[in-house]
Amino acid sequence: MLLGCVADDLTGATDLALMLTREGLRTVQINGLPDDDLDVGDVDAVVVALKSRTNPPAEAVAQSLAAATSLRALGARRLMFKYCSTFDSTDRGNIGPVAEALLDFTGSAFTVFCPAFPRAGRSIYNGYLFVNGLPIDESPMKDHPLTPMRDANLCRVLQRQTALKVGLVGYSDVDAGAEAVTTAFARETAAGRRALILDAISDQHLRHLGEAIADLPLITGGSGIALGLPDAYLARGLVPRLTPPPVTITAPPGRSVILAGSCSTATRGQVARAIAAGIPSLQLDPMALADGSVTADTLLDWLAATPSEGPALVYSSAEPDAVRAVQERLGTEAAGHIVERLLAEVAASLPARGYSRFIVAGGETAGAVVGALGIKVLRIGPEIDPGVPWTVSLSGPPVALALKSGNFGAEDFFLKAWDMLR
Ligand code: ADP
Repeated sequence: MLLGCVADDLTGATDLALMLTREGLRTVQINGLPDDDLDVGDVDAVVVALKSRTNPPAEAVAQSLAAATSLRALGARRLMFKYCSTFDSTDRGNIGPVAEALLDFTGSAFTVFCPAFPRAGRSIYNGYLFVNGLPIDESPMKDHPLTPMRDANLCRVLQRQTALKVGLVGYSDVDAGAEAVTTAFARETAAGRRALILDAISDQHLRHLGEAIADLPLITGGSGIALGLPDAYLARGLVPRLTPPPVTITAPPGRSVILAGSCSTATRGQVARAIAAGIPSLQLDPMALADGSVTADTLLDWLAATPSEGPALVYSSAEPDAVRAVQERLGTEAAGHIVERLLAEVAASLPARGYSRFIVAGGETAGAVVGALGIKVLRIGPEIDPGVPWTVSLSGPPVALALKSGNFGAEDFFLKAWDMLR
């Protein structure tokens, strides 16, 4: 195993595992810290999915170091720390503190930071992060409930999170190619800067960067920074060949269900489209969960009465005003947990009832559901929409799973995903 990755959330881990798979590395995803006796088989890369993005920094550091230690034990010669392409973090962390700890762990002289993913509308120019053409502090991310991004200058953002001196490898160096980037690394580190933000506004830039960073013991970034790594590994003979990504998936036979706990704009559109297409649906009202009038049994009975040949949709997705009203009555965290817990409880009893095909919408929701299903290892299958593949469980109950981060996927995502399984 060549590359070991520590991801700060579940759907982000899947996004990275998909990127590595698409570019030719045999990759598996492990949910949570690997067990000591875990056998990952013959793979080039392993992505460990943590849930550390918004934990207290010390906890995120401890979890990330534990994951790095396990990845080393599995044979990883290089490490990557994966975070969101919108650099989700606060002045306390966790990107700076985790990267600093991993830098110490690897003993390397410096590391790089690059959340750019131009294909998904995330680019970095002169250290400024743009989301769909807007500086991130003018994008909807400025109002994120947990990690509001109020400064687009990543050098400043990162400098507030770390004692390492932050530097920049800017557009002109990145555009000039891998050699110029390597020269820029030498220039920055000679000036004592050990945390280097990298510009990138195109896939070509990511390929230049891949070539320049392929030998670093530690890199950090979004899934985009991995785009150029497989080719660079092949050129160095670090992997004997690139493996074409899977184009089909063999899903275990059984019933299908969509569990949507995300309230993001994309998911709400996908829910509306699925209902319009005639998929049987049941909307969950968090207040009814709180007063006990709707329970896991209510949902299981409803599911049992739906036609067995097609998918059924259970969703709590609601408009922002409705979500705010519930949050005011129950508290934000409690409202989130009550929905997550119920969907997880339902999911846990579905395999025994013949369900083997799951789509889960929402990062937190997916974490809760996969945990309840007891699925530790995932193999990456074909891509449904950018950043979201079908996956197959390699441990726990045999199921096919599509784990969709809230804002990912086109409006017909739920329909398209099932068509790929036929
Ligand atoms: P996303 O990926 O879109 O952020 P998540 O699953 O990560 O989705 O987060 C959505 C959160 O909102 C979860 O904690 C979920 O339980 C909670 N939630 C879902 N539906 C509602 C609702 N109707 N009212 C309040 N909170 C909700």
